[in-house]
Amino acid sequence: MFKVFYPFSVLKSLSALVLTQGPPPKHRRRPAGVVACQSLLLFAILAFIALNVALLFWVYRDAQNRGMEYGILWLVIVFVFGPLAAIVYVFARQKGSLVPCARCGARRLDVSANCPHCGNA
Ligand SMILES: [Zn+2]
Repeated sequence: MFKVFYPFSVLKSLSALVLTQGPPPKHRRRPAGVVACQSLLLFAILAFIALNVALLFWVYRDAQNRGMEYGILWLVIVFVFGPLAAIVYVFARQKGSLVPCARCGARRLDVSANCPHCGNA
């Protein structure tokens, strides 16, 4: 017999199942291995998100300190492509070490003509 799939009929049979079975038992527990695996997966996902957010902040601040015009563009690129784009940024950014500015104290490139934060020479 040919049977047509209706989402509504699935909902109807699901609700019938729930109604006939009643509420689930209160002390039903998942196996410890499943709980450990799910916790590990959740932790890995959260750690990955935290790493990406930290990377975004670092790339944007580093680009600002180096006086690069396209800091916001690098932020978007790292947001879209992740850690791989941050590695590309490290090789593409303006070279030189960051030193504190004599006037405003913010970090700036030691070879730059003016501080990107206060404009001090
Ligand atoms: Zn400055």
